[in-house]
Amino acid sequence: MISATPVSPSTPTAAKYEAVIGLECHVQLATHSKMFCGCPSDYSGAPPNTHVCPVCLGMPGVLPVINRTAVEYTLLTGLALNADIPEATKFDRKNYPYPDLVKGYQISQYDLPLVKGGWIEITVEGQTRRIHLERVHLEEDTGKLTHVSGGSLVDFNRSGVPLMEMVSQPDLRTATEAREYLRKLRTILRTLGVSGADMEKGQLRCDVNVSLRPVGQAKLGTKVEVKNLNSFRSVQRSLEYEIVRQAAALDAGETIPQETRGWVEERGVTVTQRSKEEAHDYRYFPEPDLPPIFVSADWVSTLRSRLPELPDAKRDRYIATFGLGTADASALSIDQWAARLFEDTVAAGADPKKAANWIQNDVSRLHDETSSDGHTLDAAHLAELLRLVDDGVIGISAARQVLPSVYQSGRSPRTLVDELGLAQVSDSSALEASVREVLAANPAPVADYHSGKLTAINFLKGQVMKATRGKANPAVAEDLLKKLLDE
Ligand SMILES: [Zn+2]
Repeated sequence: MISATPVSPSTPTAAKYEAVIGLECHVQLATHSKMFCGCPSDYSGAPPNTHVCPVCLGMPGVLPVINRTAVEYTLLTGLALNADIPEATKFDRKNYPYPDLVKGYQISQYDLPLVKGGWIEITVEGQTRRIHLERVHLEEDTGKLTHVSGGSLVDFNRSGVPLMEMVSQPDLRTATEAREYLRKLRTILRTLGVSGADMEKGQLRCDVNVSLRPVGQAKLGTKVEVKNLNSFRSVQRSLEYEIVRQAAALDAGETIPQETRGWVEERGVTVTQRSKEEAHDYRYFPEPDLPPIFVSADWVSTLRSRLPELPDAKRDRYIATFGLGTADASALSIDQWAARLFEDTVAAGADPKKAANWIQNDVSRLHDETSSDGHTLDAAHLAELLRLVDDGVIGISAARQVLPSVYQSGRSPRTLVDELGLAQVSDSSALEASVREVLAANPAPVADYHSGKLTAINFLKGQVMKATRGKANPAVAEDLLKKLLDE
């Protein structure tokens, strides 16, 4: 029988295929100077070709010098990833026939990288999994080409900036897992202080490779690489697109060619860039101008002592110290801003679970919308807001209503609650008039209640809330209703 079910481009065909995904990330290191010369590595905003010297312009007769900080940043990253740090490592030349590197080769690492193995733990839908890495090596970034009509312009400011290449094993299975891996990686890099890891600024760039295989099959399918993704969203969307595209092709009996594709953000599609036949022969050979590096056990232990608290340790501490669940603790620990606010809010006296809940929902939403305007939330104010709710001064909906004003004005929640008249009426004598009015205006529910239909009180309570424009303390209103109905 021939299945005629159409394939929607937005939903993956039945769960009959498993995606196998690997990520290759390039991370610019936040060193003061470039990888092999003294030029400043922060080129943002600089006019083209102003951060250059004979070394990074590849002039004849110049010699590169290894940037020790870049090496240490790479080793620190390896330690943070629980990886092996081999004793001996060296640099190699990689054939590079493009005009954005003047030398015609790139100094990189081939068979002896600085870091081998390692893993990153990710939590998706409450499930924690380890994603393994192949290696982390150090190389130099290329310049930047801009294509204009009639030719191309080249800016060498970026040429020679230290670049860490981090290759994962194909352990990822979904687009969401890939995004979580990247988020965790970014937090680790920022916590270590080795990179700004800002994808929009090109400090963290990503290629993904993805293949599909029938569920239960061990043999891998043909992998397709999608290059140069520059946001978390484009990583997730391009993978979702590729999984649907490849599943549809396999369903139609086609074979997937091994190729490199590019992501077209505006159209939300990937397009063929080059096939395997055009793959480059990089012809690596040892870099004769640089000595090998020997990493002593002493050097490693000194670096290990410099490691800050990493996201996994933070997550475990939140679970042990504050009693948070795994999902909450994991989510907070991979967001430096949220983690800091959480700890400060708890230190200011808030209940940890409530603080975690508010920060991950209402506060995060506001932060995403307004942080670019320079607004922040004072932890003492968030703690005060939660205390106002706990003390029955305001209800949850009033707290939600006042939060944006606290955020934008930087003023205390107590003051704003008073100014906006949001305080709940918890004094029963003050509520009594409203309750009596509601009872007088709704004889039918009152009769229902007296005939034993006790749930009629919920309708009456709703009317009291309405009459007081939401300011009645619901518990006090209910007690008062019961008292007056039972009189
Ligand atoms: Zn230079």
